[in-house]
Amino acid sequence: NIPVIAIDGPSASGKGTVAERVAATLGFHFLDSGALYRLTALSAMKHGVALDDEAGVAALAVKLPASFRDGAVWLAEENVTDAIRAEAVGDGASKVAALPAVRAALLDRQRAYRQAPGLVADGRDMGTVVFPDAVAKVFLTASAEARAERRYKQLIEKGNSANLAALVADMQARDARDTARAVAPLKPAADALLLDTTHMGIETAVQKVLAHYDL
Ligand code: C5P
Repeated sequence: NIPVIAIDGPSASGKGTVAERVAATLGFHFLDSGALYRLTALSAMKHGVALDDEAGVAALAVKLPASFRDGAVWLAEENVTDAIRAEAVGDGASKVAALPAVRAALLDRQRAYRQAPGLVADGRDMGTVVFPDAVAKVFLTASAEARAERRYKQLIEKGNSANLAALVADMQARDARDTARAVAPLKPAADALLLDTTHMGIETAVQKVLAHYDL
């Protein structure tokens, strides 16, 4: 049985960075499941499919020409690494992610990333729905303020302009939608280790996840 480490949590909790580093340390594969929802939203926007058209968006999700190669994210032959990180796409991702048919359409694709020697999966429902048999489950949190500040710093470092108050509002709206939805709501698995990273560095969080996996 190929081991999976499931790392879930709200946006900008640091789970993406932590998950990537844990995967690199162990030589495991890495799944950024949020990128699949972002790609689905971007694809819908490009095709003029409304984000609440469940059947239409699900049809796009089933045959999503998504790939992760050369350190980039691709939608067919287009490099959309930066495009999928736009706030509008993140917002769209959380809208399409609330549609049961869309989540069902992406389920097998996510499970296909489980390959030897192991997988670190980052998302909202890795430990609860996609990989309920994961050997290690971690739920990363941080205060809304700390998370908005991290997102703000990332944007500024990349040369974008950003408004901290608007980021806090966007993040709270997205977290509220992710937590309130009927299918696969954002919540820790019953057997998850809870890690609050508000006052914790990335490296400490990585070590705690590795220690949890070793147990
Ligand atoms: O993690 P990221 O911010 O890229 O995810 C974008 C959106 O995709 C989230 O706000 C959430 O609504 C959705 N998502 C999800 N389930 C996952 C990963 C992401 O519903 N496993």
